[in-house]
Amino acid sequence: MIEWNDEQLMVRDAMRRFVEEEVKPNLEELEHGDMPPYDVIRKMLSTFGMDAMARDRFKKTIEREKAEAEARERGEEPPAKEERSGGGGGGLNTIPIIELCRYCPGMVTAMGVSMGLTASAIMSKGTIAQKERWALDLLTFDKVGAWAITEPGSGSDAFGSMSATARREGEGYLLNGSKTFITNGPFADTTVFICKLDEGNPPAERKVLNFVLDRGMDGFEQSKPLRKMGMHSSPTGELYLDDVYVGRDRLLGETEEVSSGGRDSAKATFSQERSGVAAMALGIIEQCLDLCVQYAKDRVQFGKPIGEFQLIQEKLARMEVARLNVQNLVFRVVESSAEGRAMSLAEASAMKLYSARAATEVAMEAVQLFGGNGYMSEFQVEQLARDAKVLQIYGGTDEIQITHIAKDLLRR
Ligand SMILES: Cc1cc2nc3c(=O)[nH]c(=O)nc-3n(C[C@H](O)[C@H](O)[C@H](O)COP(=O)(O)OP(=O)(O)OC[C@H]3O[C@@H](n4cnc5c(N)ncnc54)[C@H](O)[C@@H]3O)c2cc1C
Repeated sequence: MIEWNDEQLMVRDAMRRFVEEEVKPNLEELEHGDMPPYDVIRKMLSTFGMDAMARDRFKKTIEREKAEAEARERGEEPPAKEERSGGGGGGLNTIPIIELCRYCPGMVTAMGVSMGLTASAIMSKGTIAQKERWALDLLTFDKVGAWAITEPGSGSDAFGSMSATARREGEGYLLNGSKTFITNGPFADTTVFICKLDEGNPPAERKVLNFVLDRGMDGFEQSKPLRKMGMHSSPTGELYLDDVYVGRDRLLGETEEVSSGGRDSAKATFSQERSGVAAMALGIIEQCLDLCVQYAKDRVQFGKPIGEFQLIQEKLARMEVARLNVQNLVFRVVESSAEGRAMSLAEASAMKLYSARAATEVAMEAVQLFGGNGYMSEFQVEQLARDAKVLQIYGGTDEIQITHIAKDLLRR
């Protein structure tokens, strides 16, 4: 794949019209946090029939899983899985991300955490009943989801320093702890809470368990949105759990017997999150480049357009190189997904590292190219530069991506 095909370009144009009509007029309010992004996201899903498609896909998955479970109960081989081809929508899921990120990367963050991370955690580890109870509403965005692993004292070392606990209590568990920097935390209806099972054993040996919480449960508090540098259209908050009692029906998988102590599920989630960052970065880079080319033609200094100065040309050329490279990474994600090929954590980490850095560098250089105007909120590059920076922090910092890539290389 070296370029978008006609069908993909049609989707892109339709998305551009949607952004023009529904996102741009609300940008000011989304940006200043007065308006949570959820209604615009829902409108996008219904406009493009994405909610109906998600419902349909969910129904097929559950029917297949039920047939497999029944076959196993009868002692038969489960029916062979259908060959996956054309999965991932041949870029049809990726294009909306790119187009939204040209104006409002925070919307993609809010959407990705709910429909991606939170729903995926439930779909990959939950029982059929748990999927039906929580995942469908997240996949259609009828409900907002949050995925909570980070704590005040545990970020990059998410498992090692984790202090949130589950203790057995009667038929269920008592959950305690606090989480921070949680996307959608303030508004989430459904939260996947990751903690360690405290059996009186040393923290390093404890199993990692995932529980599903509903808004308003006794002892469960969701903070107001935190003030932050950028991504204002993605609300971020804290969660506090004080003796929250949950039945076993809220433990994902309804079993404590989880492979590799429960760490695998979170790692698979990291991998998915990281490869998605490339599409976000591409949207930011494309928009910065378009704005910069126009500005370089329009802005006159020393009697000529600044685009005639070689130092400005160098910035544009570097931005174009970044655009091409990140676009190629995005094409790789699209093709891998269409072939049903899972990306390794190291590969996804390499993509995230490169594309997050590229987006931040391009956006900062865009501010520079715009001069004083670039520093003013009226010009969009200011917002994009603040938004781009977090790509190097969430989903694992640049430094952590480097450790994952290097570990994989040195293991070979
Ligand atoms: C806007 C936003 C949204 C977020 N959304 C979510 C969410 O929905 N759910 C969730 O669970 N979390 C979320 N996070 C948390 C995010 O994943 C963490 O902030 C991130 O993993 C880094 O952890 P930390 O902030 O504790 O930094 P720290 O781990 O304290 O890192 C501080 C510095 O030390 C470096 N460092 C740490 N360890 C090493 C090492 N071994 N080698 C070299 N350098 C190292 C880091 O790279 C960094 O530069 C979000 C964060 C932000 C900012």
